Amino acid sequence: MRDVVVIGGGLTGLSACYQLEKLGLRYTVIELKRRFGGAISSKSENGFIMDGSGFAFSSLAAEPWLPELGLSDQVLPLDGDVFIFRCGTESLIRALAGTLPGGRLMRMAVSSLGTCQRRFTICLENGLMLDAGALILAVPARYAARMLYNLAPAAAERLQGYRYECLWQAALGFHKRDLPPSLPAASFAFLYMTDHPARVPDSDHRLIQLALPAPADTPSADIIHAASDRLGARAAPIAACAAAVDEALSIYADDHFANMRLVRALLPAGVSLVGSDFLLEPPGQPGLSQIAERLDAGRRAANDARLFLKRRKST
Ligand SMILES: Cc1cc2nc3c(=O)[nH]c(=O)nc-3n(C[C@H](O)[C@H](O)[C@H](O)COP(=O)(O)OP(=O)(O)OC[C@H]3O[C@@H](n4cnc5c(N)ncnc54)[C@H](O)[C@@H]3O)c2cc1C
Repeated sequence: MRDVVVIGGGLTGLSACYQLEKLGLRYTVIELKRRFGGAISSKSENGFIMDGSGFAFSSLAAEPWLPELGLSDQVLPLDGDVFIFRCGTESLIRALAGTLPGGRLMRMAVSSLGTCQRRFTICLENGLMLDAGALILAVPARYAARMLYNLAPAAAERLQGYRYECLWQAALGFHKRDLPPSLPAASFAFLYMTDHPARVPDSDHRLIQLALPAPADTPSADIIHAASDRLGARAAPIAACAAAVDEALSIYADDHFANMRLVRALLPAGVSLVGSDFLLEPPGQPGLSQIAERLDAGRRAANDARLFLKRRKST
């Protein structure tokens, strides 16, 4: 009998699975796409290793799982307490996913959740149905809202009010001679760069990771062109990729944290809602602290599931 179903195989969901594995609980993770990682992906091109979203992280040096995942020497200092991954952030996803012998259902979408005889029921869009003692929802709010419509309608209604903005993340690899001496960081939502030999072909090159808001249907070539122009680059990048990622705006609104507490109170016991859309307090360091926070949230959700199952058993 399955103890827990984790919905969403991004960083938060995988972190929950890893902790469930350590706790000895039986779980299944359901992921919509053919790959784990959600917003996080990395790719190499012409000697550059580029990240699709999360690139630079604070508080990572203190992350307790890095040594056991064999990643201690994969973390490189960028600036002060800010770190990057030697082979791209996807190495963290690969390391976590590689340790999970538990069940996984890929390319499957959860359509609705319910209860039956003190267990949760999980209906997939292809008609398959699973059941579990506890649930961990590690998906963005707009997907969680749809799933929760039957199980917790009042919580679902509040989650539907989330607003999203499309943020494009671009990774651009340049020869240094084609870049101006100082880069206009203020023109972007954020901008980081590295010359570390692990991430660029040689010391004459620089990798720039930046984000800018733009409509989701903008062609990626236009984003790369606009970002290069705004940087003041004298030539086109040697390597480039750009991806659109939806960023929930609600976490920047004053009433978000109170609203989230209310949403959590409206959920049935045994259901956890985790991920960047569901923070209960402002992010430690906006844009940078999120990886450590996602790992921690996944861990806590797994621990809460164990506690809930233990209590349930004794009643
Ligand atoms: C442009 C950008 C740049 C960023 N840069 C940084 C950075 O430099 N440093 C940092 O610390 N953080 C950064 N972040 C934040 C960080 O990438 C995210 O906080 C983190 O990856 C979120 O992980 P998650 O698992 O909570 O959510 P997601 O990555 O969104 O994962 C959710 C998963 O759920 C799946 N899913 C959705 N619906 C369903 C369904 N119905 N059924 C089953 N599965 C479903 C999705 O396919 C996805 O895999 C950045 C974010 C953005 C948008």
